[in-house]
Amino acid sequence: MKKILLLSLPVILLITACNDKQKGENATSVDNPFFQTYDTPYDVPPFDKIENEHYLPAFKEGIKLQHEEIQAIANSEDPASFENTILAFDRSGDLLTRVSQVFFNISSADNSDELQEIAKEVTPLISEHSNNMMLNADLFKRVKDVYDNRFDADLDESQIRVVEKIYQDFERSGANLNEDEKDRMREINNKLSMLSLDFGNNLLAETNKNFRLVVDNEADLAGLPESAIDGAAATAADLDMEGKWVFQLSRASMTPFLQYAENRDLREKIYMGYIMRGNNDNEHDNKAIISEMVPLRAEKAELLGYGTHADFVIDVNMAKTPENVNAFLMKLWDAALPVAKSEVYDMQQIIDREGGDFQLAPWDWWYYAEKLRKEKYDLDENELKPYLKLENVRDGMFWVANQLYGINFEKLDDVPVYHPDAEVFKVTEADGTLVGLLYADYFVRDSKRGGAWCTSFREATYDADGNRVEPISTIVMNYPKPTEETPSLLSWDETTTMFHEFGHALHGLFTDGKYQRTAGVVPRDYVELPSQIMENFAGEPQVMKQYAKHYQTGEVIPDELIEKLNKSGHFNQGFVTVEYLAASILDMDWHSLQTGETVEDVLAFEKASMDNIGLIPEIAPRYRSTYFQHIFSGGYSAGYYVYIWAAVLDADAFNAFKESGDIFNPELAAKFRKHCLAEVGEGPAMEQYIKFRGQAPSEDPLLERRGLK
Ligand SMILES: [Zn+2]
Repeated sequence: MKKILLLSLPVILLITACNDKQKGENATSVDNPFFQTYDTPYDVPPFDKIENEHYLPAFKEGIKLQHEEIQAIANSEDPASFENTILAFDRSGDLLTRVSQVFFNISSADNSDELQEIAKEVTPLISEHSNNMMLNADLFKRVKDVYDNRFDADLDESQIRVVEKIYQDFERSGANLNEDEKDRMREINNKLSMLSLDFGNNLLAETNKNFRLVVDNEADLAGLPESAIDGAAATAADLDMEGKWVFQLSRASMTPFLQYAENRDLREKIYMGYIMRGNNDNEHDNKAIISEMVPLRAEKAELLGYGTHADFVIDVNMAKTPENVNAFLMKLWDAALPVAKSEVYDMQQIIDREGGDFQLAPWDWWYYAEKLRKEKYDLDENELKPYLKLENVRDGMFWVANQLYGINFEKLDDVPVYHPDAEVFKVTEADGTLVGLLYADYFVRDSKRGGAWCTSFREATYDADGNRVEPISTIVMNYPKPTEETPSLLSWDETTTMFHEFGHALHGLFTDGKYQRTAGVVPRDYVELPSQIMENFAGEPQVMKQYAKHYQTGEVIPDELIEKLNKSGHFNQGFVTVEYLAASILDMDWHSLQTGETVEDVLAFEKASMDNIGLIPEIAPRYRSTYFQHIFSGGYSAGYYVYIWAAVLDADAFNAFKESGDIFNPELAAKFRKHCLAEVGEGPAMEQYIKFRGQAPSEDPLLERRGLK
């Protein structure tokens, strides 16, 4: 099914069809909220009533119900038709979808040992269920009947499209295989789903539990901004270490340390903690998992008739082939690597000038990059932060959405939330019509997976009577918690990240389509267009003046600071591009192995991959293999490249607004909303894009934006 279930959700969620309200007639327990109508405002999940013990029975019942629905379709005596086969399949599995959307979202945002246990129990059940559905010969025969006759059955274009997509899902799941091959496919799927779960759990422990940098000597805090020191003191207090300072491996905690801490040894310590995650030869080591996963993926691809896992994955993307992806990545690599090398040179100059008798090391990068930023652009991130209070940034992105689409946001206080940190907003059209709800969960905590993401608790759809069911989107970040002294002040990176996730949410909120399988669904390498285009707005002067106000004085950000920020747009882009591309290429290499090729030594494979492209020792890939959650425990295997692929689209799309002389150009905004967000699932992604832009995208705006041209 859907598009913005980013990361960590098991594969089942990508293929389960779903729809319709569960009426509760199959309830097996009167107390289980999943078995009842929710009876909450806007029908949100009743988080205040959901207990851990409710999940497993709801999963089991959900699987059973969908199994019955599938059997009914497969065993029908009536000739296969769009309605009795495709539509029925598209609408099956409502309860399973509902419980999955709550469970997997909470597992990411507020995990616990109990939830990990439940996931271990549920994952094989779901994997088995998915196999039973997608390898069901009788069901497939009927799907194929409709598919073979799709042009003679008086179907409209969107019906034909959903038939083709569902048929393709079956094909790509192995429905055409013989019985022995199907058995092997089941084994592989089951194994992969458990390995992927273990990978993610290991990483959670390695990030949030297994490493702490405890500072007990105040002198070691030299250079750090007040907000970072306060945050570290608060973390220490939480851990019963009053009077000390604790830094962790979340980016919110680690990045300011790397940027500002003068103590070079401690920078090295936290940096090494970060890049060794999953590679400590302890019970949470991920190397063996990778060695097992990669050949299984290759074997699965071969069973399905593809040379490699990358061929299999990319076949349904805009890029079409790994060759296209590799050529694209290498073109950018060749442009970016010299820029990164010149950044090393510039920073070494500073080290030498200051009399530091050493070569720039990876843990020095952020620290000297900050100095370089000050020197070259006269910009200190700490000068910006007071203007980037979280609530102001949030209101700024709401304002941008209002300017573009006329929509409004109202905070709701009477709606259940899954954690006290989460806020809920009602989103309405200019005329007051409800668009949907938006949950936002901002702050870092030990129970939360690292990074930032957007998913949904309910997808936009229509019920059997044709009434729109409003979506519930949710964005989750890992931002510093406010302390008694300071509100949560964001870095520039965190600011654009919030705009980014909000862009995904708009895609989910605006989605409009009749069929679950196609509504809002886009290829992986399109998914980051709706999100990344929003990042462009964050730094526009007229936007910044709207939201960037000093948290103490209320003063609007001065023009010269905006100017400095925008001038520094090319700052560190060599590094940013190289560390990203290195990870993308590593991902492609892992997934370009053929069946039978095994990798015993994960670290040696990674090193060979990086040596092959000439990665410089001062930079590590943005994710090393043992903590590359996107590709080993998310939906991005052979797909980490998509961010920069979509960056071509977002830079080109934003350029359209710029060229028009009005970044809120209403005509363009309406077209973008219609073709690229709301109805994007109704046609091939590139065609939808061209409907908005009038022409295919050019790579030039991206290269110019990054200073690589
Ligand atoms: Zn994204």
